[in-house]
Amino acid sequence: MRVNILGVGFDNLTMAEALARGRELLDAEGTHYVVTPNPEIVETCRANAEAMAAVNGADLVLPDGIGVIYGAKIRKTPLKERVPGIEFGTSMIEYCAKTGKSVYFLGAKPGVAEQAAERLKARYNGLIVAGTHDGYFKDDAAAAGWVRESGADMALVCLGAPKQELFMARYGAATGARLLLGLGGSLDVFAGVAQRAPKFYVDHNLEWFYRLIKNPSRIGRIMKLPLFLVHAAAEKKG
Ligand code: UDP
Repeated sequence: MRVNILGVGFDNLTMAEALARGRELLDAEGTHYVVTPNPEIVETCRANAEAMAAVNGADLVLPDGIGVIYGAKIRKTPLKERVPGIEFGTSMIEYCAKTGKSVYFLGAKPGVAEQAAERLKARYNGLIVAGTHDGYFKDDAAAAGWVRESGADMALVCLGAPKQELFMARYGAATGARLLLGLGGSLDVFAGVAQRAPKFYVDHNLEWFYRLIKNPSRIGRIMKLPLFLVHAAAEKKG
């Protein structure tokens, strides 16, 4: 049973449980995809039915960000824990390196996916990079074809929301990969182009605040967090 928050159904799993499920999906027949919505993405889905269907159509819907955990608590349907997409993705990449499964990196500005792949290869012995491409392509079908031709077992799809969720829902099967992970700005972090918040901010659930002081132009996006909590509380009463 998924926990419904404003129309998005979240899987109620710990990180360890989510990873166990991710490994199963990587070995299962067919193509599966994982999404990691934060409050901003939930708000986007409320305004965009196609994005909502793409998110709910995922095989794993993981709560990225403390806002979703608070939202679930307000609604008295608590989720076990936060499952940050970047941490889930890192562990899945490590698993692929250990088991000889290949990974495609799709997304971010030109050059970033290559740099991310190089740094991850240096970090995880034996990691097989099936291919890389930036996320500013025009033809989604062609992009799916690049992944298919590479023969990748897993693909990181980092195009921002809701572009990555729509791509995975529409073209996931055409990639031929077993597992697709929609991970937003993660390639920028893997490449070292963007930094994740220092541990203090992560531990105190203040990652959103760190992002805001680093990049004040995100204020419009970050203001969706209180809006999301107001909506979550209102839905409970209604
Ligand atoms: N991006 C992309 N193609 C696009 C738009 C965005 O590849 O058409 C990339 C962008 O370069 C960045 C990521 O998608 O690497 C989205 O980053 P953002 O910080 O918005 O993601 P978040 O993790 O906050 O959802």
